[in-house]
Amino acid sequence: MSDPKWDVLGVGCNSVDYVYRLPASPRADSPTAKLRITSHHVMCGGQTATAMAACAGLGLRAAYLGAIGHDHNGRTVRDELQRRGVDVSAVLTRECANRFAVITVDETSGERVVLWDRDDRLNLSPRELDPALIRSARLVHVDDEDQEAAIAAATIARQAGIPTTSDIDRLTSRTKDLVTAVSIPMFGEHVLPGLTGESDPERGLRALRQWHDGVLCVTLGPRGAMLMVGDQTTSMPAFSVTAVDTTAAGDVFRAGFIRGYLAGYEPKAILEFANAAAAIGCTRAGAMASVPELNEVEAVIGGRALR
Ligand code: ADP
Repeated sequence: MSDPKWDVLGVGCNSVDYVYRLPASPRADSPTAKLRITSHHVMCGGQTATAMAACAGLGLRAAYLGAIGHDHNGRTVRDELQRRGVDVSAVLTRECANRFAVITVDETSGERVVLWDRDDRLNLSPRELDPALIRSARLVHVDDEDQEAAIAAATIARQAGIPTTSDIDRLTSRTKDLVTAVSIPMFGEHVLPGLTGESDPERGLRALRQWHDGVLCVTLGPRGAMLMVGDQTTSMPAFSVTAVDTTAAGDVFRAGFIRGYLAGYEPKAILEFANAAAAIGCTRAGAMASVPELNEVEAVIGGRALR
């Protein structure tokens, strides 16, 4: 077989984010029911597109496969990915508006709320996946937006012996099939209790181990992340930063994880690298706009920055 064309191929969603920074979290029936917006920006994001931009920033040869709209937002996302060094030759363009999100960020904590919409014509179908394209990467990353396409991509990759990472952020009737299809499922903490019946992350991973034998990972927000290899769990606290925007934390974490995994790091070093990348992302506004460069992550790990 010829050398893989890319280190990582991301199959999944992109978005244009309308980001509103607020002086507090808006809550109905409270003094923060009305808030003046501190600042607002239009920025590129979406789980997999951001993860691929972060992979490229970390020095990986990254490609993105997903559907974009033919409108201004679609062109903006494609241009931004290209500018960041992501191969967009496999992108599919649809005759509709691009996916977009309205994101509110509480400036005091960096926490955010994401409201989004997406035209059904942007759905990616398994039939649109070229198996040869998927087999052209050392690792395939999927998200859980178009689950049928994600399952199909992960299955093609798995059959070819290519590792597959994922972003599993919600619980649906197909989540279990998606988890089964990927070799390295990576969960947001809130997903595990519904999937396993366990509220404690370690117990959740152990429950998952009953039916998944791959590397398992759960991200724990400001508490860091946990990894399970075989029956061994490894935890790593997050780097302590003043978070200004956690929008892309999970996507940048996954990119750091992928970089560490492909470099053959030990579990602890993978988590350290991924936590460091994500922490830097949290100190900046936006999704793609917040992704770090490799030398920045290395500086944080070497103790020359953030700490
Ligand atoms: P998601 O953004 O997908 O909800 P998490 O909130 O679990 O995912 O965050 C992913 C990773 O980002 C965490 O594992 C951690 O490494 C990092 N992270 C998140 N929030 C913070 C924070 N406030 N400070 C430092 N690192 C953070």
